[in-house]
Amino acid sequence: MKAAATSFLLAAMVAIPAQSSAQNFGQFIAIEGPVIALTHAKVIDGTGAPAALDQTILIEGDRITAVGPSGSVRVPANAEVVDLSGQTVIPGLVGLHNHSYYTGGNGRAAQLSFSGSRLYLASGVTTIRTTGARQPYAELNLKREIDAGQVIGPTMFTTGPYLTGEQGSQTMARLQGPEQARRIVRYWAEEGVSWFKAYTWISRAELGAAIDEAHRHGVKVTAHLCSVGYREAVALGIDNLEHGLFANSEYAPDKRPDDCPSGFRSGYVDLDVHGPEVQATFRDMIDNDVAMTSTLVVYEISVSGRPPIDERVYDVLAPEIAREVRQIAIARRAGRGAIDPAIFSKAMEYERAFVEAGGLLAAGVDPTGYGAAPPGLGDQRNFELLLEAGFSTEEVVQIMSANGAKVLGIDDDVGTVEAGKLADLVVIDADLEEVGHLRDTKIVFRHGIAWDSAKLVDSIRGIVGIR
Ligand SMILES: [Zn+2]
Repeated sequence: MKAAATSFLLAAMVAIPAQSSAQNFGQFIAIEGPVIALTHAKVIDGTGAPAALDQTILIEGDRITAVGPSGSVRVPANAEVVDLSGQTVIPGLVGLHNHSYYTGGNGRAAQLSFSGSRLYLASGVTTIRTTGARQPYAELNLKREIDAGQVIGPTMFTTGPYLTGEQGSQTMARLQGPEQARRIVRYWAEEGVSWFKAYTWISRAELGAAIDEAHRHGVKVTAHLCSVGYREAVALGIDNLEHGLFANSEYAPDKRPDDCPSGFRSGYVDLDVHGPEVQATFRDMIDNDVAMTSTLVVYEISVSGRPPIDERVYDVLAPEIAREVRQIAIARRAGRGAIDPAIFSKAMEYERAFVEAGGLLAAGVDPTGYGAAPPGLGDQRNFELLLEAGFSTEEVVQIMSANGAKVLGIDDDVGTVEAGKLADLVVIDADLEEVGHLRDTKIVFRHGIAWDSAKLVDSIRGIVGIR
C-alpha cells in the first residue's frame, strides 16, 4: 500500500513539470495533445540500424509507446495525428560538450542561461552535459528551473568549476595540489553537480585526487588535457576524454611529465592512427570504458581554407558580437592564427580509427573560442563534419544521440527512438540522408512536449552572446 502510494506520487512529480512547461510557454508549442501520432516518417533510430521508411511513432505523455511501420501501429482515436511524409525523425541529440556559457569576439564571455538554453533545444539538442562551468550555481539553478518547467531548455547534466594547474582562465580553479582538488570536488559534488572537468595544466597527482574524490561521491570526471596524456589519465581512472586528438599530447617527442608541450599538434601531420602508439591509447580507453568526445566544430572555425561560417550564426548573435566574430572568421579562413587543415583532417582520421577499434565516440559543440560555433547551431555543424569524417548518416546519428546517452548513463531512457523511451525526438523537414544536414530541424520533442524550432529561434535572435 505504502509502495503504491509512493510510486503514484513519483509519477505525479514527473508529470507536473511537463505540463507546466507546455502551459507556461504555449506560444512555442508545435503540437498539442496528450497523445500524438507521427505517421509516414523516415526514422533513423540512433541504434545504428539502417533508416526505416514509412514509420509511425506514438507518443503518450512523456514517452514513446510504439514505433513501427505505418498501418501496423494502432493509433488511438484521441491521438493528434501528424503526417510526416517526406520528413525524418531522429532521437534528440545528446550534447556532451555543451557549455551553458559562451565566449566570442574580442574576449567576450557570457552565461547564456536564456538564449543558449533555447538555442540548444531549437537545434534538436534535448540533453546537454555542460563540461566545465564558469558559474556553477547559475548552472545548478538553471537545471532546476528547466526541470520545474519554468525555463525553456534541454535536460542538463551540470559541471563543477574547471580544475586546472598553473595556467588557465581566471574563472578556473588553479590547483595548488591534490588536497585542494579533493576539497573542491567534495564541495561541488555535495552541492549537486554530476561531472567535473579537468583542464590543460592539471598535474597527474591533482587529477588522480580529483577522480578519486569524485568517484567516492558518485560523480564523474572528464578532461580537456595537455599536461597529462590520455593513457596516464585512463590509468588514473578518468571517465571521458574531450576533443580527441586535439587534446592528446602523449605523441609529442618532447612531452615531459605534468607539462603541456606548446604547439604539440603541429607534429601530428604524419601521425599513423593505425600504428602501435595510437592503437595503444585506444586499447587503454576501450578496455577501461573511457569514451571520447568529438568537438570538431570548435576547431573547424579556426581552420584555414574551410567554407564560410553558416550565416545563421551571425543572424542569432548580438549584432556587435556578430561583427567581431565575422572579422575573426575571415582572418582564420585566410590563415591568420589558423589551424593547419592537415591537422584537422588527421583529427577526423583519429576519431574514425577510434570507432573502428571499438571505441565509444560521442559529440558536443563547445561554444567557446572566438564564438563562431554557438549553442545548437554548432552541434548541427558537427553532424556535417562527422559525415565528412567518413561516418554514415546512421553512425553520426548514433554518435550524437545514443552514444552520449551511454556516457551519461541514461541510455535506458534516452538516446534512441524506441518504445518505452522518453519522447526526445527531432523532426527534420527533409530526407536527412539526401540533404546531409540538420538545418531543416522543425519540431523538437523533449519529454513529449513538441517545441516549434523556428519560434524558439525567433525569440532569441540578436541576443545570443549577451544573455
Ligand atoms: Zn569546453
